[in-house]
Amino acid sequence: MFLTISTTGTPERPATDLGFLLHKHPDKAQSFSTSHGIAHVFYPEASAERCTAALLLEVDPVALVRRGRGKGRGGAPDAALAQYVNDRPYAASSLLAVAMSAVFKSALNGACRAMPERAGAPLPLRIEVPALPARGGAELVHKLFGPLGWTRVEAEAVPLDAEFPQWGDSRYVRLVLEGELRLADALRQLYVLLPVLDDAKHYWVAPDEVDKLLRAGAGWLADHPERKLITSRYLSRRWSLTRQAAQALELVRLAESDDLDVDRVDNAVDETEDTEEKPVPLAEQRRTAILEALRSAGASRVLDLGCGQGQLVQALLKDTRFTEIVGVDVSMRALTIASRRLKLDRLGERQSGRVTLRQGSLTYTDKRLGGYDAAVLSEVIEHLDLPRLPALEYAVFGSARPRTVLVTTPNVEYNVRWETLPAGHVRHGDHRFEWTRAEFRAWAEKVAGRHGYTVAFEPVGPEDPEVGPPTQLAVFTTTAAAGDKPAENKIKNKKEAEAA
Ligand code: SAH
Repeated sequence: MFLTISTTGTPERPATDLGFLLHKHPDKAQSFSTSHGIAHVFYPEASAERCTAALLLEVDPVALVRRGRGKGRGGAPDAALAQYVNDRPYAASSLLAVAMSAVFKSALNGACRAMPERAGAPLPLRIEVPALPARGGAELVHKLFGPLGWTRVEAEAVPLDAEFPQWGDSRYVRLVLEGELRLADALRQLYVLLPVLDDAKHYWVAPDEVDKLLRAGAGWLADHPERKLITSRYLSRRWSLTRQAAQALELVRLAESDDLDVDRVDNAVDETEDTEEKPVPLAEQRRTAILEALRSAGASRVLDLGCGQGQLVQALLKDTRFTEIVGVDVSMRALTIASRRLKLDRLGERQSGRVTLRQGSLTYTDKRLGGYDAAVLSEVIEHLDLPRLPALEYAVFGSARPRTVLVTTPNVEYNVRWETLPAGHVRHGDHRFEWTRAEFRAWAEKVAGRHGYTVAFEPVGPEDPEVGPPTQLAVFTTTAAAGDKPAENKIKNKKEAEAA
């Protein structure tokens, strides 16, 4: 695995300054031990006019096999063979990117105490990677590096065997980039785009990869036309991570411009080229389960409480049996995104008449929420501090009292099955709690008992024999007419709820 970085200079601004910027002296050959082998840095040429730094990674194939074992996408059937026939030691890939980030760490961060002004300024660069595995070929290489400020992007297909041109090209290209860029920017692009082009299993995808990607992508990724493909491939198509990254990038874009184009975020995950590998996202499975339950409850006037960015409202709108849909959320930002998603201003009167988005908190009773067929609380309760839950319980089950209430929440037992979730972590930074199946059941049964509902439980997502499904759904049903509050009187309910 090999990569060279060259620059040119003048007697006043010698090219050998590259040594300062990379924090590696041009007169020395140095070796560093990295997690996958030994990285060597040396300078094949070093004069005032031209200076080239080379990074060579000597991969330890045994360590690679050991580390790779038991990880990755569900044990590829050819895993045993892959131990022997494997281009990892030779091709510039994710491993080279990892080595680069270890060896050129300060340069990647743009830090240079010796000459800060040079580190901050563009310099004439030529980068060459002689064997770059490129899934998507030269065309994709151009799409990825083209928008990033290089004056020359060259990706020449490497023939499978130079003596037998009739065999055609290999999956490798010889990459040459030339242009005036800041060294740190160039290194950050390579750090992200080498593994993206390689698109093989990475050896390091962990939750903090999203942060790493955002840091390395600072200043160029948020507006890159191929950012969807880049994020999805970089994160090895881990959908939850890709979604997180897409949302974070969208925030960056928002901060940079006021142009809120929600569709681009939504599609960030849904439109990657590799549809056959794409699992149905859990959020979509949840919506399907909710729609199913609403239909079988015969609901037509529906509250989506904590509607967030309006994905469920959008799905409800597509089915004409839902004649009135009210989305409520406490977050104005979420509602703004929801209304753009629904294109409310562009819907015909008939359609837009079916939807209302309203800001409000679910921990306060709201008379306007009375008299509906059904209310959905999808992934909402876990966002409330536990002591606030009785207030929500009363507002929904005691005051609004729809005939059917659907509540979904994560099943914390399933968390051990998320490959990328560190042990003991919740799935989302804003989750105040996550319950086991028993905890959810106990809560739901108490709520049902207190307010005259019956409750049934359904799994959502693949049900694991040991730890159950990733999402749990409770379907509450009352036989009393909508808006009717017969048995218990309001005060008693409220007190009870608060005492709970
Ligand atoms: N129902 C959506 C969103 C879930 S995220 C879905 O299934 O994808 C949780 C949502 O609940 C967020 O949009 C948050 O703003 C909202 N929320 C949290 N506490 C709330 C409260 N007290 N009142 C109203 N909405 C609340």
